[in-house]
Amino acid sequence: MSRRAEEYAAQVLRREELSDHFVRLTLGGEGLAGFVSTGIPDEWVGLVVPGQFQSRYYTVRSWSDGELVVDVVVHEVGLVTEWALGRAGDPVGQTLTITEPKSSFALPDDAGWLQLVGDLTAMPAMARIAGTYADRLPVRVHAEVPDDPSSYDGYLPGSADVTWARGSGDGLAAAVEALELPEGAGYFWMAGESAQMRAIRKHLMREVRMPSTHYDVMGYWRKVSERQLRAVDPGPIWRAGKAQGKSDEEIWAAYDAARAGEQQ
Ligand SMILES: Cc1cc2nc3c(=O)[nH]c(=O)nc-3n(C[C@H](O)[C@H](O)[C@H](O)COP(=O)(O)OP(=O)(O)OC[C@H]3O[C@@H](n4cnc5c(N)ncnc54)[C@H](O)[C@@H]3O)c2cc1C
Repeated sequence: MSRRAEEYAAQVLRREELSDHFVRLTLGGEGLAGFVSTGIPDEWVGLVVPGQFQSRYYTVRSWSDGELVVDVVVHEVGLVTEWALGRAGDPVGQTLTITEPKSSFALPDDAGWLQLVGDLTAMPAMARIAGTYADRLPVRVHAEVPDDPSSYDGYLPGSADVTWARGSGDGLAAAVEALELPEGAGYFWMAGESAQMRAIRKHLMREVRMPSTHYDVMGYWRKVSERQLRAVDPGPIWRAGKAQGKSDEEIWAAYDAARAGEQQ
């Protein structure tokens, strides 16, 4: 029997501008008391801002002492962007709905290294993954950010080997094609704009011939000019894909297609 997904009412306790494009929201309150983290460092929640019914997905940057932190990229227009920018009033004190956390990161036992690649939307997950593993494995990060990288000093753990690029994430596919991955088995994790991610899945499958258990490439957002993306819950797609024995990249490709409104 299917179970209704948990939802939590979360109050915005604090709002802090980390850079011109990145806003940190600290959520808490009694409604979050029952929140249970997956403990997996790329975990995300759906966030429904006041007055809206569609959710958008955000990485749990941290969850401790009853406080849940999300770091939100603010771009030109968008449900969460405009709300986080305060266009509908100061978010502090407002109550949001948070959905049950989900995660996908799965480090194989034989991984001797970790390579993370992403744009600004992936920074919270990259910071949490690197913070979890950098003491155990060599961790390399390639991050593409819209501001001077010095705006993000200290955001990623010092133990990770980080290269920075400046841009809105359009350069990620080319950057990965030029990357020399370390020898031996490892794990490649990447997230950002969906078209870039599709190109990289093909590259890893066809050129690098990496086993699908050794990479996880997720479309976090889709560049669309006129059409709003459909809000699609990755949870049911993930569970259906797993039940059908699909690989992670097949499941994420189905998720990208569902968000784009394409036929499966
Ligand atoms: C598992 C997962 C984890 C995620 N974690 C984070 C996170 O921690 N922090 C974070 O900021 N985002 C994260 N994202 C991405 C975030 O959900 C999307 O960027 C979302 O579309 C933003 O919602 P919005 O309401 O601001 O814009 P929407 O209303 O969804 O979109 C409005 C317009 O903005 C454009 N747009 C959407 N996102 C961006 C962007 N990032 N840059 C430029 N243009 C954009 C769209 O193409 C559209 O034209 C994550 C996504 C997933 C699937």
